[in-house]
Amino acid sequence: MSGSDTDRRIRGLRTPKPAVNPWKAHGSIVEEERRPDGRIEFALTVFLAGAECPFTCSFCDLWRWTIDGPTPPGAVTQQVSDVLREVQAGSPRPDRLKLYNASNFFDRRAVPAVDVPAIAELAAPFAGVTVESHANTVGTLALDFAQRIPGRLEVAVGLETIHPTAAAQLNKRLDLAQFDRAAHFLSDNQMDLRVFVLLGAPYVPAEEAVEWAVRTVEYAAQRGASFASIIPVRGGNGEMERLQSLGHFAPPTLRQLEAALDGCLHLTHTVVTADLWDLHRLPTCASCGEARIGRLRRQNASGIAEPRVDCSVCEA
Ligand code: SF4
Ligand SMILES: [Zn+2]
Repeated sequence: MSGSDTDRRIRGLRTPKPAVNPWKAHGSIVEEERRPDGRIEFALTVFLAGAECPFTCSFCDLWRWTIDGPTPPGAVTQQVSDVLREVQAGSPRPDRLKLYNASNFFDRRAVPAVDVPAIAELAAPFAGVTVESHANTVGTLALDFAQRIPGRLEVAVGLETIHPTAAAQLNKRLDLAQFDRAAHFLSDNQMDLRVFVLLGAPYVPAEEAVEWAVRTVEYAAQRGASFASIIPVRGGNGEMERLQSLGHFAPPTLRQLEAALDGCLHLTHTVVTADLWDLHRLPTCASCGEARIGRLRRQNASGIAEPRVDCSVCEA
């Protein structure tokens, strides 16, 4: 099956897209985040609405936050400007601005060229700025944006998994050589690399899910990633349910997420965290689930391993 046939199949299994207003960010959050040197930063993440990503990864559900056509010129600038006005009215300015546009920041359909100078101006007061991009679109446009801002640019890239079979099945059109090139380009040009890693990628056997998540984080760390976020794959986009019915996907559990994070805490130059968004959807035990989530939250903040949670119900 060709790439475009795969795209059509994945898209055909989706539920209808909710209505998205490209002139209004669909959320923002200020969080404390640890950096590799041990500093704690306040990071403001703005979840931007805009054009859909041209890739159609099997596990992705970010398309829900996108519109069908290109992002209208001026819309991203207005979204960022409105959120900054609200945030600055209520609290001290965060150290870092994260602009997550559910696609690739350097795709000019998603972030029109005309917006780039204005976004750079809005980002100027921040010591660090993070944007997201497919590894294939890390290049001169990243360098151009980095040179427009006084702070340091960090680019968040989905490495997802280095399991060879699973990586080939993600429909992400990414191979490790391309990732390595992007990592080198960023470090050669004084930009930071943040990485997204999947726990429970389809086609990774469930009993190997933890091992491959840890190996993938280690791979990114060896290539200079300053930050790695382990994201448990969630169902709900249609394609994941199809893969689950064929035995190619098993939703990861909270226990696996704990084991994956525990397995990465030996890394000293890369901050590794477990993604806690929507965690209550993961299969877990009613008796110890909250204690396990609390432990993950503390380990994300400190980077220090805590004793495992004992449970007389699920470990009996
Ligand atoms: S590249 Fe990222 S945003 Fe695009 S489809 Fe894949 S996971 Fe989703
Ligand atoms: Zn339990």
